[in-house]
Amino acid sequence: MPHQKISEHEDKIYYRTKSLCPECETLLPAAVFARQGGVFVGRECPHHGYHEGLICSDSGWYDRLPDFNVDPTPPKNLKNKIVNGCPDDCGLCQAHQQIAGTATIEISNECNASCPVCLADNKKTFSLSAKEVHGMIENLLTLQDTVGFVTLSGGEPTIHPELFGILDCLKRPEVGRVAINSNGIRICTDDAFLDRLATYNNIYITLHFDGTQAKLVRGVTHEFQMKALTRLLKWGIPVVPSVVAVKGLNEPELGEMVKNLLIMSPAIRTVMLTMMCYTGSHGSHYQGQSPVKRLTALGAIEAMELTTQGLIKKTDFLPLAFSNPACVTLAYYLVDEGEITALYPLGDMNEVIKQTKNKNLGDLTFELETLFTHIIDHIYAHPKKFADGEKLLQKFKRLMQTLFPDGKTISNAERIRLAEERIKGIYLYQLMDKYNFDTSRLSKCVCQHLLPDNRIIPTCAYYSYYRKKDPRFN
Ligand SMILES: [Zn+2]
Ligand SMILES: [Zn+2]
Repeated sequence: MPHQKISEHEDKIYYRTKSLCPECETLLPAAVFARQGGVFVGRECPHHGYHEGLICSDSGWYDRLPDFNVDPTPPKNLKNKIVNGCPDDCGLCQAHQQIAGTATIEISNECNASCPVCLADNKKTFSLSAKEVHGMIENLLTLQDTVGFVTLSGGEPTIHPELFGILDCLKRPEVGRVAINSNGIRICTDDAFLDRLATYNNIYITLHFDGTQAKLVRGVTHEFQMKALTRLLKWGIPVVPSVVAVKGLNEPELGEMVKNLLIMSPAIRTVMLTMMCYTGSHGSHYQGQSPVKRLTALGAIEAMELTTQGLIKKTDFLPLAFSNPACVTLAYYLVDEGEITALYPLGDMNEVIKQTKNKNLGDLTFELETLFTHIIDHIYAHPKKFADGEKLLQKFKRLMQTLFPDGKTISNAERIRLAEERIKGIYLYQLMDKYNFDTSRLSKCVCQHLLPDNRIIPTCAYYSYYRKKDPRFN
């Protein structure tokens, strides 16, 4: 069915940008607009006609995003001048206003699986050395003083012969946490590997975990993914289950699954939902799925609200202000005695936004004490607003007592660990692909790909625009 083109009179146009033609992948002038409750990016290719892609399924939510546009922390020493704009000039280019919160390194393009959905391209043509990875981090640190997260991706990082050498070179004060993306195959069988992994205290595993239909997403069964998860928990290795959320496939079970994961174990730190992204060798033509009627972050939240009878609900979530607010949506929960309590709705929203302003994901080092004191005061001050106010207060008092025990000093690292075991996030990522690409979002991109030639490229631009030009894949 052909789309109705953008109408200056009938549609609400937010801004002009550039997007890709999904057929020839040329960058084209585009507009972001609202129509019938959804937000789309539309553009016309002289050769392939008009295309539009869904950005957000809730225009009311989208209208609030400018409130979350906080002052960024700009990278230093950006050399690439803007001639044709980002992504053409990128590496990073001078369009960038925000440092990387997550720097991703594809350490090889070799994998021991063949997932039906794969955002990478596993051609077995390269493998980085620890020395190269060290050089890439040194280069990143000329642009910013620290980086919250480094994600090792691939390929399958756990089969990289120099994985531990790479982890050693990432043990440095400028690097916060190291996330290792994994399909769980090696984790399921190799005890010695887990023994060694468990000696690193700055890592966690972002483990593929996709629900009962996992086989259709990652090619392995739900039982297999559960086995990998159970083994990581047994070894005490922190895990962030990483779900590809697909419309109509695992969408109906997201709510129950996420809730169960949050309460399952202190070693499960947070749950990450990546909205199905139509890119990479096995993602760009995912069968039976429509990139136009795709599952959006707001769609996934609505599905979770419906299936958990409101235990997880839309008002629990806020856009992440650190990134472009359209890219990441998140909620934090206090997990206490098998129950989850959403944090954001408990405070005064203006105060919460002030407290979390320009903080990276999971950054529990910020003024925790101030935020929780604010929440406790807010519950005290509004006894009628919270049905089970007394029970809530008890939960927060237990939390404060754990994090700031009377007459006992605990180290900051210990406090962060205790906080991470009790305050957990649900993060929803809305990556861009050639269907919903919007170049204006790149300048505040906080997920950046590091390349061995020292270029740094926003991850979405790398997936949709640069990987096919990356000489390592040819
Ligand atoms: Zn075209
Ligand atoms: Zn750029």
